[in-house]
Amino acid sequence: MAAKRDYYEILGLPRNASEQEVKSAYRQLALRYHPDRNPGDAHAEERFKEAAEAYGVLGDAEKRRRYDTYGHAGVSGVGGAGFDPTIFADFSDILGDFFGFGDLFGRRRGPRRGADLRYNLEISFEEAAFGTETQIRIPRAEPCKECSGSGAAPGTKPSTCPTCGGAGQVTFQQGFFSVARSCSHCRGSGRIVTEECSTCRGEGHVTNERTLQIKVPPGVDSGSQLRITGEGESGPLGGPSGDLYVVLRVKEHALFRRDGTHLFCEIPVSFPQATLGATLDIPTLEGGKAKLTVPEGTQSGSVIRLRGEGVPQLGGRGRGDLHVLVRVEVPTRLTSEQRKLVEELAETLPTPDMESKEKSLFERMKDIFG
Ligand SMILES: [Zn+2]
Ligand SMILES: [Zn+2]
Repeated sequence: MAAKRDYYEILGLPRNASEQEVKSAYRQLALRYHPDRNPGDAHAEERFKEAAEAYGVLGDAEKRRRYDTYGHAGVSGVGGAGFDPTIFADFSDILGDFFGFGDLFGRRRGPRRGADLRYNLEISFEEAAFGTETQIRIPRAEPCKECSGSGAAPGTKPSTCPTCGGAGQVTFQQGFFSVARSCSHCRGSGRIVTEECSTCRGEGHVTNERTLQIKVPPGVDSGSQLRITGEGESGPLGGPSGDLYVVLRVKEHALFRRDGTHLFCEIPVSFPQATLGATLDIPTLEGGKAKLTVPEGTQSGSVIRLRGEGVPQLGGRGRGDLHVLVRVEVPTRLTSEQRKLVEELAETLPTPDMESKEKSLFERMKDIFG
C-alpha cells in the first residue's frame, strides 16, 4: 500500500485554498469519478474515494487545522481511512441521482490492515544534508485493552444488530439501483453494544499519543519519505498495523541552495580581489570554513567549484560539489581620494571593446552549433 497522498494534492488545490474552493474542487472530482458514471473502473473508484476522504478533512475547519499541523496522523479516524460517508449529505442536491455508496464504503468486515499514517516533518537544511535523529509524537488509535476492542463493558458481549441482522448494511431499491447502505443503527459493524466499556465509551479503541524516535539519513530532500513499518493505525478486528510515512520538508538556508547533491552559494568579492586574485575563507555547510581561491582576473558571474563540499549522496558514498558564484561588487560610495584613484586607473585601462565581445560570442555560438 502506497503512502496516502496529500489531501491538497488530491483536490488539486494550494494549501491556502478557501472553503469555497475546497468545496467546488471536491464537487467536480466527485461528479467526474462517480462510480455510477465509471462502472467497473477501479481507478475512478479509487479517485472518487480519495477525493471524498480529502474533502472529509479539508472541508472541516478543525480537521483541516489538524491535518495542516500533523499531516494524516492528525486526522486519521479509526478503522480505515477516516472516511465519513455522511459528508455526502452536503451534495445530495447534485449527487442525488447517484447512490450506491454502501457497496463502496459501507461494508468492510473481518480483520483488515490498519491505515497508513502520514506525518509531515520539517527539518533544517543542514539536518537534511547530514542526517539527524528526532522524536515525533503521533496520535493514533489503538484497540482498547479494557474490552479487547469490542466496545462492550467487561463481562458483557455485544449483541447482533436487529436492524441489519448482523450484516452491517441494509439494502433497498431506489429507481433502477439496488442500493446498499451502511446500517446506521450499528454503524456498519453488525453489532450493538448495550453496556458500553467505560474506558473507550463503547468505541472499542482509544487514541494514544506515541513518541517515536526517527532517524533521518544524510542526503534526504524535501518530499523524501521515511517508512516506519507497523507504526500506522492498528488493524481493526486484529488485523496487522499499517505503516507510518514521515514526509520531510526541508527549510531554506540563508546562504545555500541545493540541487540534489550539489550545493550553490554566492560570494561577493571586491573589484581589487577579482582583478588581482585572492584567497578567501568562505563558510561551509558544516559551519566551518573552506579556502576559496579566486584567480587573478576573475569575472563577475564566474563559478568556482569546490569538490566534495556539497551534500552527501543519500544511501551512498561521496558528496556533491559546492558551486560558488562570484559576484564582483562595484563600490557605490567613494571618498574623494578613492574617486581620484579610480579616475587615474580608468585613464590607463582600455575601454571594453564592444565589437570584439560580440565577435567572441559569435565564435562561441559557431563552436556550439557547428
Ligand atoms: Zn446494523
Ligand atoms: Zn473499551
